[in-house]
Amino acid sequence: MECVMNSVISAVNPSFGSRVNPASLCEKNGLVHRASSSFSRQDTTFSCTKLPGSAKVLVPKLQDPEKGVRSIRKARRWTRASAAAALEYDVVIVGAGVVGTATAHHILTTTKLSVALIDAQVPCSGATGAGQGYIWMAHRKPGTAGWALAKHGKSLWETFAEELQASGESLQEALGLRHTGSLLVASTDDQARSLQSWIQVLSEAGIPSTYWTPVEVANMEPALASGCVTGAAYFHEDFQIDAALTMNTLLKKVREYAAGGRYKELFNTPVQQLIRSSAEGRIVGVEIPAGKVFSRNAVVIASGAWTMTLMNTVSAQWGIPLVPPVKPRKGHLLVIEGPHNIPLKSGIMEVDYLANYHSPGSQERPAAKPAEESGVSVSMTATLDPSGNLLLGSSREFAGFNVDVENEVIERIVERAALFLPGVRSMKGKVRTGLRPYSSDGRPLVGPVEDVPGLILATGHEGSGLCLALATAELVTNMIQEFENPVEFSPFLPRGRLVGALA
Ligand SMILES: Cc1cc2nc3c(=O)[nH]c(=O)nc-3n(C[C@H](O)[C@H](O)[C@H](O)COP(=O)(O)OP(=O)(O)OC[C@H]3O[C@@H](n4cnc5c(N)ncnc54)[C@H](O)[C@@H]3O)c2cc1C
Repeated sequence: MECVMNSVISAVNPSFGSRVNPASLCEKNGLVHRASSSFSRQDTTFSCTKLPGSAKVLVPKLQDPEKGVRSIRKARRWTRASAAAALEYDVVIVGAGVVGTATAHHILTTTKLSVALIDAQVPCSGATGAGQGYIWMAHRKPGTAGWALAKHGKSLWETFAEELQASGESLQEALGLRHTGSLLVASTDDQARSLQSWIQVLSEAGIPSTYWTPVEVANMEPALASGCVTGAAYFHEDFQIDAALTMNTLLKKVREYAAGGRYKELFNTPVQQLIRSSAEGRIVGVEIPAGKVFSRNAVVIASGAWTMTLMNTVSAQWGIPLVPPVKPRKGHLLVIEGPHNIPLKSGIMEVDYLANYHSPGSQERPAAKPAEESGVSVSMTATLDPSGNLLLGSSREFAGFNVDVENEVIERIVERAALFLPGVRSMKGKVRTGLRPYSSDGRPLVGPVEDVPGLILATGHEGSGLCLALATAELVTNMIQEFENPVEFSPFLPRGRLVGALA
């Protein structure tokens, strides 16, 4: 049985054409850094800012001139005042996406070290603000390094949730956590057969799952088009979080350490260069527009898709290979605000997603398909967020640092989603875009850079940064402390994976 794909292009609502700034999503969910008004931005693109000499590093550009000027002025006043205090922290983290913020949180809550968290924009303005929130094992390959890291990372989210609950917090409010399970949906007979073998593989790896026939799917998830679905695999223990709510909670927790002087955040503050001691070649801090922030132990680069631009600058200046194989992989996500008539119980993903997704750490995964280098791949993903909004994804493409909404990509997402969820045809929505930090060898880069003491990378998580954030944070903290790590981390070390400056 094959699905007949109906054209829904004519039904695409024009209101899909506007981009939701992830930072404003944070604001909507209460994630507002009021002290600096830094979440007042309307939209985000990236431009080249000239650095001294010929070096350039990509930093955020504000699109709304009025609001942008206001928040830049505030940020400048703030950082100048801070710089006058001669900033020095044990650990300086570059990038306040989920990876950088989770790392700050782990260091502050498990050690006595102090942390400066620096972002060129504001938290959630990178890929994190666009993330759909899957904390899933359903689509990962057992036996790979990525599998072990994801499994451990998922268990750390569960522990974090338990701790929050024990301290009286609502998981719905603190993390947007929903125990939905995950449903991989087949639309051909071949896919349905392969799902049955997949269940077997994951069950043997300790992931409980159940196979559903089309009739069972129709009973459990009536919104799914029964004529299209040929079978599905349900994974009981997968869950979802909401990126903005989770970031809100992590930031709230790290700010508790500010009064005691162990935590400092510098937002709207691009890091332009790293500072290296001429005597030992050690990284001892970073340069920001207002001056310098020194590190006693380490500088952690968690700048997501922009890591390559920063490290290219550094690499060019010092003439050593420091550029990780990480580039931006753009994604679109549609947000259909409730009320709507698609009451999903589980998080849903079509089986095709597995082919378009490159699981970080999976040694077996294929390299990006040649067609993908210039084209767009789209697979259906569908979840409900804590407010009941329907999130429909997602696309993958290499489009540089451009985060503009592309109507034809949205049309393809709606077309694909309507195949499984016909009800989406006539709905209105908004669009989120984000740049996943894609690592060309499929593995995140986490760990110290050889021959450059004091420098640690934590980037390249592609479509799994939310899932892997806590595990990455733990790895980085243990590496700084020179403690044992609970998972095998050698596949993620930058060793042998960095190249020299690109022209
Ligand atoms: C549509 C979509 C759906 C997704 N769904 C999921 C999902 O369901 N589950 C999942 O696990 N993952 C998902 N992801 C992937 C996930 O969002 C990313 O892997 C993750 O957010 C990466 O986090 P990060 O902190 O590394 O990067 P980012 O969130 O991009 O943060 C990097 C930060 O560094 C800052 N920065 C850059 N350069 C500098 C500089 N020079 N100085 C200072 N700061 C700098 C940026 O401003 C930015 O805030 C999705 C991604 C997209 C796009």
